[in-house]
Amino acid sequence: MADPSPNTMMTCPYNPAHQVEHYRMHIHLQKCRKQHPNCNKINCPFDSTHVVNDVEIDYHVSVCPKRHMLDNQLYITDDDYRPTVEIVSPPTVVTSEENWEDDNTTSYKPDLSKKGPHIITKIKGATPSERRKARMEGIKNYRPAEVNK
Ligand SMILES: [Zn+2]
Ligand SMILES: [Zn+2]
Repeated sequence: MADPSPNTMMTCPYNPAHQVEHYRMHIHLQKCRKQHPNCNKINCPFDSTHVVNDVEIDYHVSVCPKRHMLDNQLYITDDDYRPTVEIVSPPTVVTSEENWEDDNTTSYKPDLSKKGPHIITKIKGATPSERRKARMEGIKNYRPAEVNK
């Protein structure tokens, strides 16, 4: 909810004929309020200690300081202050001298000699369209081994 700009003309809640600039409304209301002593009183939705003539509640809500406090709590954006969390480095893992997993650490190496003719080779330095064309050629020429007769 954006605040009305200070120079926005507002209609006095007590008398629609009163057009008052927003920043002067509170002054105007002090005068106008006295001429309407029998207005219903309601509590501000943001702070029950704010007792407002019910016709003024819209104006009050737009200027209520508690509303701003609430806004700040509701709309925390990424730009707002966030507490700095200290990055704690993980505890150093003490490695044992003996490594029981040595026998199992053969890393996977693809056997390039088993590369079949259907493997689609990438063309380095080709334009995307050339690569796409080559890929389409490769797909066109691709025949699973069992289909070849
Ligand atoms: Zn007025
Ligand atoms: Zn209030």
